[in-house]
Order: sequence, then C-alpha cells, then structure tokens
Amino acid sequence: MKIEEPCTCLYYLQEQAKRIKKESSLYRVKCKGCGREFLSNTEKEYCFECEEKREKWRKKKENLESGRNISLYGL
Ligand SMILES: [Zn+2]
Repeated sequence: MKIEEPCTCLYYLQEQAKRIKKESSLYRVKCKGCGREFLSNTEKEYCFECEEKREKWRKKKENLESGRNISLYGL
C-alpha cells in the first residue's frame, strides 16, 4: 500500500488556511458610536445597539426623503 504524504508546500498552505480561519472568526471591534469594545465574527464599526439606532435613524431619514419625493410629484 502506498502512503502519500502531503508535500511540505501543501502542508504549509493548510496551516495558513487554518490560521486565517482562526483569525477571521472573531474581531475585536471598538464601536464608533459608544466606544465600547466587543467581539464580532464580522468586521463592523458599530455595536448591535448603535447599529440598531443607526438603522432606525436611516429608515426615518428614508421616510422623510420618500415623503419629500411624494410632495415633489405633487407639484
Ligand atoms: Zn455602540
């Protein structure tokens, strides 16, 4: 029976992939809104709370903008 050993370069790549996976699994993020530090599995700028606030604010703004558009159509 022939045992195939992985060549060193393949082994190196596997190790690199493992390391990248490990490193990218969690980010230490400092929220731009409240300055709180937290861990996240995605790279982001705001914590959940601030993100929620921003989302609400964005929707409010969108509503205002669409409202403005409607009034423009009314002209
Ligand atoms: Zn925050």
